[in-house]
Parts: sequence; C-alpha cells; structure tokens
Amino acid sequence: MSVESTHQETIVLHAGHRKDETTNAVAVPIYQTTSYQFDNTEHAGNLFALKEFGNIYTRIMNPTCDVLEQRLTALEGGAAALAVSSGQAASMIAVQNIAQAGDNIVSSTDLYGGTWNLFANSLKTMGIEVRFVDPEDPEVFRGATDDKTRAYYAETLPNPKLQVFPIKEVADIGRELGVPLIMDHTAAHGLCRPFDHGAAIIASSCTKYIGGHGNSIGGIIIDGGNFDWEAHKERFPMLNEPDPSYHGAVWTEAVKPLGPVAYIIKARVTLLRDCGQAMSPFNAFLILQGLETLPLRMERHCGNAEKIATFLDGHAKVTRVIYPSLMEGEHRRRADAYLEGGYGGLVGFELEGGTESGRKFIDSLKLFYHLANIGDARSLAIHPASTTHSQLTEEEQFATGVSPGYVRLSIGLEHIDDIMSDLSQALDDA
Ligand code: PLP
Repeated sequence: MSVESTHQETIVLHAGHRKDETTNAVAVPIYQTTSYQFDNTEHAGNLFALKEFGNIYTRIMNPTCDVLEQRLTALEGGAAALAVSSGQAASMIAVQNIAQAGDNIVSSTDLYGGTWNLFANSLKTMGIEVRFVDPEDPEVFRGATDDKTRAYYAETLPNPKLQVFPIKEVADIGRELGVPLIMDHTAAHGLCRPFDHGAAIIASSCTKYIGGHGNSIGGIIIDGGNFDWEAHKERFPMLNEPDPSYHGAVWTEAVKPLGPVAYIIKARVTLLRDCGQAMSPFNAFLILQGLETLPLRMERHCGNAEKIATFLDGHAKVTRVIYPSLMEGEHRRRADAYLEGGYGGLVGFELEGGTESGRKFIDSLKLFYHLANIGDARSLAIHPASTTHSQLTEEEQFATGVSPGYVRLSIGLEHIDDIMSDLSQALDDA
C-alpha cells in the first residue's frame, strides 16, 4: 500500500495503487491483455516453477485484478486475495480448495438460495457432503464435525434472513477443533471485519455492495492468513501433502517465504488454472470504481434502510419487519456485537395479505426496480419465494428465512422521501 492507513475510507482509495509506473496514470489502468511477454526462457521457466513471481496469463493473474485483490485484502485485514468471475465461483473455489470427494463441510442454513443449491446439489455430485445446521445455537457446528470436516461456512448478514451470524462463537469452536470458518461477507463489507472475530477465509460476491452500481458480476476470496494449516496436517492433506498437479509441491512449505498465503496461492495456481473462473480486467476496473465509495455508500444504505424499517414497522398492512435493529434478544445482541458500521441496507417484510398482496405490492412499485440483485445504488425489490429461492423446497425456503409472503428490499441511495413515497403508494395498492 502506498499510503498507510487503518481507516477504510482511505484504504478503498489508496491501497494497492498510487500511479501507473509507466504512464503516471492515477486511475487504475485496465490491463486488457491475455498474456505477458517473458524476458527470456529462464524467466519463463522461473515463473512457471513459482521460483519468481510475475504475470503469466490473465486466467491466473492480471494487474488490474491485482489492485482489486490488494485493496480488498487491506480493507478486511487479510493476507492476500483472489478475484474470480462471480460470487458463486468464490464460494465454489473457497470450499473445493480444501475439500474433495469423501469430505464434508458444515454450513449455516441461513444462506442465499444460489449457495444453497450449490451446496445441496452441485457439491454433492462431486462427493462433498454439506451438513446444514441452524446457527441459533453455535454448538451445533461442533456436533456436526468429524475428522472429514474441512470447513464451516456462513453468511455474516444472511440474505434474506438478516439474522447476524455468531462469527466469534463458531470461529472459536472451529479453532479448537482445527476447522476454518469461511464467511460469505457479501452484505456486510464496510460494516464488520470477520477476520477480527476469528474467521479464516472470506468468500464474497463483488456484484453487490462492493461494485455497488449493478454493472459487473465478480467475486473475491480473501485469505485471513490467520489459520495454521500445518498444525492440522491430517485434516488438510490438500495443503500439506505433495500436489501431483504441481510437480509435487507441498503448499504450506512451497510458499512459506511469501507469508501465510498457502491457501490462496494454491487456489490461484491450481483451481483457477484448471477451472478458469477468472475475473475480467474490465470488471475489476468497474468494481474498483465502486469500491472507492463503499464506506460512504454503506453509511447512506444503512441510514435509509433503518428509516424504511421503522416506517414499515408502523404500517397497518405490514405484519412483520425483518431488520437487525428491530430484532430482540440474542439476534439483536449479535447485530450489535458484529455490525459496527450500521445494520445493513436490506429490509424484509411480510404483508397482511400474504403472497398475493406481495405480488400486488411489487407490481405497483415505480421508483424501486424489480430485479434479482442486492446492493445497487438504486432501490430494488423482489419476492424471494418465487424467484431467488424458488428452486428450494418449501422446507428449505423456511430454513433460509423465506416465508411465502416475504418481500425483500435492497434500499438504495435515493432521497429518503422518494423511497418512502414509492413504498407508501405501493402499500396502498397491496
Ligand atoms: N452470496 C450472497 C450472499 C449473494 O446474495 C449472492 C447473489 O445474490 C451470491 C453470493 C452470489 O454472487 P454472484 O451473483 O456474484 O455469483
């Protein structure tokens, strides 16, 4: 980082790039190239053998993506990161990097529908079992762990349940048993830092708040550099035993001179090399533009969302509002303990008239967009049961917090009066 700071407002503008060394350009250049000229055959050989670090081919690394990786690493207080093509790719690689056929992971039930599908169906076809547990009681993670458990997985501010995950409680259990906690931090970047609470890996979508403008799909995996893979050699053979796909490299030993980055380097040079879910440099550029204003936007997203949650809570047609600051007991305690920067930009609610009223409400919105995304600068609305979570069974939908009448709002940056007035007129119609 050229400018040292611990403040997120400064990090998102300065980490990883001061100016382009060739042209002095201040905006991060888009390195729209597939490949990089080798100096000579020795240089080429050294790069491939990881004896020297440098650019080889954009499927594996790219200088524009590198700035995004450095900036998000600095923001989250991690050791290194890997930008990938989507949030889904981030979840997939984060798990596959340490789990193979015959292994299992233990995951919170409070998940985005796409991740639920990936875990319940696609990972199963690869022989990786996902054991779903309700994080209401953190101890269920311990109960579901055996010697084939390779990771715990959860969302910080689960979309759409919005009950904050007990990060420290579960990370502590994992550290006792030698199991790393992977956090999908998509909805809470800028509000909380999972590594400060013991999480080992972050796997997030950049498509949402990080990019913030609804123009690019992307994902990021950040290695906290705080998990001792070597202390649990039997649990992590993929990091501690010779890797036949890289002339027998033992990752925990091979990259030791670079710091505690065995997990993330292995992901880059084996899984990204083989499966190819690379982020395009153009998307990295657009996501970087969004990232520069993340702290400022999160402040406004949270401020607007809290006002909307309070407004809905007092509305005659609304039977239930789901928002962290309106929760009670342990859920409220967790929200206060982890969401230091605000309670988030997502608000859920249920209408007196159930599903039919929910549909009418969404069809009556004029300012809000009706679409399948969150974290855009604009306000968005959706009915998860018939869209994002429609491929789940009814039982699975309930487990992820989706009831038939649930409407999810992603509150944008418009003037609060305009957001409120659109909701009011749509509620009149519902
Ligand atoms: N994680 C969460 C919490 C999400 O909400 C989403 C998408 O909605 C994803 C992951 C997947 O991200 P992407 O759409 O970038 O693949």
